Amino acid sequence: MTKYIFVTGGVTSSLGKGIIAASLAKLLQARGYTATIQKFDPYINVDPGTLNPYEHGECYVTEDGAETDLDLGHYERFLNTFTSQANNVTTGRIYQYVINKEREGAYLGRTVQVIPHITDEIKRRMTLLGSEKKFDFIITELGGTVGDIESLPYIEAVRQLKWDLGEKNAIVVHLTLIPYLKAAKELKTKPTQHSVKLMSENGVTPDILVCRTEEPLYKDLKRKIAQFCNVTEDAVIEAMDADTIYSVPLEMMREKLDVTCLNKLGMPLGEEPKLERWKEFLNKLRYPKAKITVGLIGKYVELQDAYKSILEALIHAGAINECKVEVRNIHSEFLTVDTVVEKLKNIDAVLVAPGFGNRGIDGKIDAIRYARENNIPFFGICLGMQMACVEFARNVLNLSDAHSTEMNASTTNPVINMMEDQKKIVNMGGTMRLGAYDCTLASDSISAASYGKTHISERHRHRYEFNNEYLEQFEANGMTAVGKNPETGLVEIMEVKSHPFYVATQFHPEYKSTVENPHPLFVSFVKAAKEAQELKKEVANAVSEEKS
Ligand code: GLN
Repeated sequence: MTKYIFVTGGVTSSLGKGIIAASLAKLLQARGYTATIQKFDPYINVDPGTLNPYEHGECYVTEDGAETDLDLGHYERFLNTFTSQANNVTTGRIYQYVINKEREGAYLGRTVQVIPHITDEIKRRMTLLGSEKKFDFIITELGGTVGDIESLPYIEAVRQLKWDLGEKNAIVVHLTLIPYLKAAKELKTKPTQHSVKLMSENGVTPDILVCRTEEPLYKDLKRKIAQFCNVTEDAVIEAMDADTIYSVPLEMMREKLDVTCLNKLGMPLGEEPKLERWKEFLNKLRYPKAKITVGLIGKYVELQDAYKSILEALIHAGAINECKVEVRNIHSEFLTVDTVVEKLKNIDAVLVAPGFGNRGIDGKIDAIRYARENNIPFFGICLGMQMACVEFARNVLNLSDAHSTEMNASTTNPVINMMEDQKKIVNMGGTMRLGAYDCTLASDSISAASYGKTHISERHRHRYEFNNEYLEQFEANGMTAVGKNPETGLVEIMEVKSHPFYVATQFHPEYKSTVENPHPLFVSFVKAAKEAQELKKEVANAVSEEKS
């Protein structure tokens, strides 16, 4: 029988529920169990696809083309398994489903209410993946903080499910904060007590408390928390601030979060967690032998979460290269022909990020030109690839008004064009080219060498494409479509052969990078940056020797 673990949050947001959920799942997986994680978000958007990254950070895309919360990225990166549409549910989706059913007359004239209709639908979705009988554990992370008005139906659904499923089949792990008051030199438990009380008022008592803290929780304090919050002593788990999110599974193992969960769910402990590859990764991450700087050019760079998967993919690729990747955030809006040299000074590689709309486009084009002309390793992703094509068309093919029709609908050289089947679409949500598509690689490309194969599948999220009418011209001048969709002929990867590393992808490789499987293109990008840096040093040494 599938066991359910619900992860709730109290006191404040941003405590890292997603990382705790992912770490717990990792430990269970390492003990030989199967686990998946799902996220329930209390907002009314049907999915986060239409949200500005400033609101909730990056929109993560799954294999089956779901636009989801960025926490699903953490789940995949930690577990090294795929998630799907079913792993992310929002209040908007629940209501949309219930209201559609009401319109179809499915409720037979009854009044449709939050309880039972909305809560029943939440419960149905919470147990949906369990009905497949593929998983020993389903971990459900509830977005938001206990006490929020919009969280109430979810807490009620958890209360009912705990009762429906029976003892030892469902537990609640509550993530809370134990603040340290510097002036008093004291850790304070009262906010946690209040948050547990708030849950109890709604009929749910947490079984385990994971306490975020800046200072270690001493034994007596743990005991006090246990007593005042009605949990067993082993159920108070210390979660100290970590140097990297990737050390959290090991911290949780030390605190026996997995053991306590298994005991409370009446499950055998299984094998001792095997985390050899994880530890090896962490070791390389902590003790790098080299350091490179990557310039990340985007229009949301002031918000770390906006490019979450890219930043994590760089961390994975850095570790395997035993190299620290320092990311210099460069705001594309403030990048011009006059500032590009200064802003890209001492940078070993340039990555141009995905995006939508006109803001910051010229800065992206200037940065790409600079990287291309100065042999700086370049990686363009989605919009970054599209702007690489625009830059090449303008400055190499001399098509001075070349553009994407997204930015200039009346350009006479639409090198990036809206896909035919996109033109009739009027709704915004979930209507882009989304999810996994196959791609065939030219065997003599950097991409094929990186993947070590010529057939790949990668995830997409875009409406515009390279316009194949221009392909001959591009290829005759040195920019080659080395990756193509085998069915449609759509261009998926462009490379410039005469450049040491110039790879631009229409898809988003970052979504598939995990700790145990760093993405091949990111791995070779970091490697190319390292080599470029070494070459620069050699040249500088040779010059200084010559001078002396
Ligand atoms: N705005 C571009 C498109 O829709 C690129 C999207 C992206 O970078 N994800 O095609």
